[in-house]
Amino acid sequence: MTRHRAKDLPALMKTTPSVLFTAAGVLVLALLPVLPVPEFWITQANYIGMYALVALGLVLLTGIAGLTSFGQAAFVGVGAYATALLSTRYGLSPWWGLAAGLVITVVVAAVLGWITLRMSGHYLPLATIAWALSLNFSIANLDVLGKYDGLLGVPAIHVFGISLADGRAIYYLIWLCALLAALAVRNLLDSRPGRAIRALGGATVMAEAMGISTYRYKVVVFLIAALLASVSGWLFAHVQRTVNPSPFGLKMGIEYLFMAVVGGASSVWGAFVGAGVFKIIEDQLKELLPRLLGSSGNFEIIVLGIVLVLMLKYAPKGLWPALQAALARHRPTRPRVRDWAQAPPLPLPVRPKPAPGTVLLEVQGLRKTFGGLVAVNDVSFDLCAGEIMGLIGPNGAGKSTTFNLISGVLSASAGKLRFAGQSISGQPARRIARWGLSRTFQHVKMIPDMTVLENVALGGYLRTTNGTWRAMLRLDRVQERQLLAEAERQLSRIGMQAYLDERAGNLALGQQRLMEIARALCSDPTLLLLDEPAAGLRHKEKQALAEVLRQLRQEGMSILLVEHDMDFVMGLTDRLVVMEFGTKLIEGTPAQVQASPAVRAAYLGTEH
Ligand code: ADP
Ligand code: MG
Repeated sequence: MTRHRAKDLPALMKTTPSVLFTAAGVLVLALLPVLPVPEFWITQANYIGMYALVALGLVLLTGIAGLTSFGQAAFVGVGAYATALLSTRYGLSPWWGLAAGLVITVVVAAVLGWITLRMSGHYLPLATIAWALSLNFSIANLDVLGKYDGLLGVPAIHVFGISLADGRAIYYLIWLCALLAALAVRNLLDSRPGRAIRALGGATVMAEAMGISTYRYKVVVFLIAALLASVSGWLFAHVQRTVNPSPFGLKMGIEYLFMAVVGGASSVWGAFVGAGVFKIIEDQLKELLPRLLGSSGNFEIIVLGIVLVLMLKYAPKGLWPALQAALARHRPTRPRVRDWAQAPPLPLPVRPKPAPGTVLLEVQGLRKTFGGLVAVNDVSFDLCAGEIMGLIGPNGAGKSTTFNLISGVLSASAGKLRFAGQSISGQPARRIARWGLSRTFQHVKMIPDMTVLENVALGGYLRTTNGTWRAMLRLDRVQERQLLAEAERQLSRIGMQAYLDERAGNLALGQQRLMEIARALCSDPTLLLLDEPAAGLRHKEKQALAEVLRQLRQEGMSILLVEHDMDFVMGLTDRLVVMEFGTKLIEGTPAQVQASPAVRAAYLGTEH
């Protein structure tokens, strides 16, 4: 008996800490206000909860989607002033104030997002500074908002007749909001729209090629972040019972960003750690620094700046991920529970499958110039349904550029493209994907921090419908299971079933390429574009891949592939197009191409 328990204990300790940790955390949070702790603690906890709401928005916006905003404090201001104005001037309930704040926030954020989210690089952060300043300036200069004095006498919130005037009472409302928001964001990140959002940080080209409108998801995260800030402002107004412009300025906007970055800009719980650390440091410093320096002033901002620089150097991912990594050393990562094993297959989209032998893709006089360089020079060819066509040629011949033109990743300088009976000239990648074209990339494009399974599930984006609300409320599970089952099926087909739970960034290059093929297959394409799929694979793996591609052809799939391994190409393809310096050299069967003196010359670099 004792031996048995002694044996089980380590296993128990390995699996339970996170559960125990969470339970203890919840218990402490729930009991804090009824314990005889000083009022100051409650005040601190209330601020941390309100700050965490804003930081949570920044985790989505900045940490995950890569859109830096210095302006979140302005949205906090919108939420605070909306409720303060309605309750003090018009005597409306704070709940009306909340609703009004959210509506105004959506309108303001939609306008600002529409203007600024198309900006790239450093322009976006600069734009957020600009609108943060102007929103704050507007608030401070409107008579109706009390100018710099603000609005006094904001009433307390009542819930079912209970007044939340006391810090210990509103504590529950604040933490309920914060934890529900955290849960919703966590749900969102593990979903169809969540994967699209996670692609915004550096895989937008790939996401668009999978049919995702990246602009749309930028707007979505911008709105969510603004709404979370607005809720925080609503709470803030009713905690403070007065509002004035100063807490909603640029300085506070920078501090919110500081919280998100310090806590861990890409992790939900990082928002809470960051808010907590910030609040505690700030208060300590406000007391300590003037005493040390012998004069008063906002010296804490200097220390916060130094902390930020140190953080970026030594724990660039933030405190929470650093803590997690330290814990994970003692605990193996658990694979995802395969709750999708019994899920029925995803319904296939209604897409007319062309009869074998009919022309599926028509390329006519396709041309692309980069400045003075003609990368693709009036190339024409047809690809028929059910065939595997190879596109070969020396490095720099223009093969990848041709792929980018066909798939809509680049727009052609001239020429015509028809796919599945319709013109796709000038169409964006996400539209072309809708018509049944999917692709892989010569330089693998993936989300390295996501698992292999999730990366592949991105390919099924267009076959599924779950939106942001459903994902946040976890109403998306039925379809999500179907999608994950489909992703697993495609991974198995390509021989990758052992890597489902692996972080995609940890895979060897050859396996990453296979993962990309599975991702493309997950979209149920009629035409598959593979750019050097066999590069980095060993001989056996290449043979297995060729077998899979043959099998796909048998099932009616059409494939266009670029490949340098001539054994692979010659044994697999039905027809070949050979390119050199952007120009089509010859088109024919593998035998015809191998017999061509022009092709030998191109490859060997000799005159013919
Ligand atoms: P391949 O895939 O056949 O090796 P590419 O299509 O990648 O060749 O490139 C064809 C030519 O176009 C090369 O000379 C390459 O340097 C050039 N090129 C490709 N993409 C760009 C770009 N975005 N800007 C400028 N030049 C490019
Ligand atoms: Mg290439």
